[in-house]
Amino acid sequence: MNCQECHDFIDPYIDNELDVAAAILVKQHLRDCSHCQPLLESRKALRALLNNPQLQFEVPDSLRRKIQSALRTAASSAKHQSGRRSFIPWFSIPLALAAAFTIVLGLVFLNQGGMLAPSRGNALVEEVVSGHVRSLLATHLLDVPSTDQHTVKPWFDGKLKFSPPVLDFTDRGFRLIGGRLDYINGREVAALVYQRNKHIINLFISPLESGHTEAVQSFAKDGYNVLHWDRGGFEFWAVSDVNAGDLRAFADLEMKQA
Ligand SMILES: [Zn+2]
Repeated sequence: MNCQECHDFIDPYIDNELDVAAAILVKQHLRDCSHCQPLLESRKALRALLNNPQLQFEVPDSLRRKIQSALRTAASSAKHQSGRRSFIPWFSIPLALAAAFTIVLGLVFLNQGGMLAPSRGNALVEEVVSGHVRSLLATHLLDVPSTDQHTVKPWFDGKLKFSPPVLDFTDRGFRLIGGRLDYINGREVAALVYQRNKHIINLFISPLESGHTEAVQSFAKDGYNVLHWDRGGFEFWAVSDVNAGDLRAFADLEMKQA
């Protein structure tokens, strides 16, 4: 299977609509192809977004009335043209459906752009936590195992379009043990990995896209604590199973570097 075939099959694959043989081919390709793996992640993220109850909304009465009136207008003009009693013309139903679909898609993209802040936050927290869990389950915690920030930082050169700040806090109980590339919210990010006693902290770093916020945002999901902040044009997501106080101490250390 090549990448184009993989792209063609990925939606039915996610929806379990492929026969076993085809599903195995897609699965093998996704396992081996670093180009297509992000595609799977982004489709899954989109799916999670579409399942988000905050995106499932009642059609407002005003919109319903507009669609009904547009359908009536189309029906009556078709009636005038044909000069006999007419049903709703065949083309207006797909048009109305397409309009509704466009609205849903529009909401999804608004959401990805951060204009629906709460659900964007929730979806991102889910991605950050699953990125953390994935890193612990797979044999992929570290691409560059090193406790030396001066080894880890240059390792990202040429692999990302930005150069993430890399700091070590061993003397404060948070030991840098390495880094890797990861993929959050459809973007390649730097993941720095720290050790706190027997716990692992993943710190995801990407260039700041939305505006600067003063406050640190904190979340808890599935037993993990998640903190989000920005500093110096970068956005940070820290996630770990360490207690909330320790994670906050870690974030404070990072933020003090401003
Ligand atoms: Zn591929």
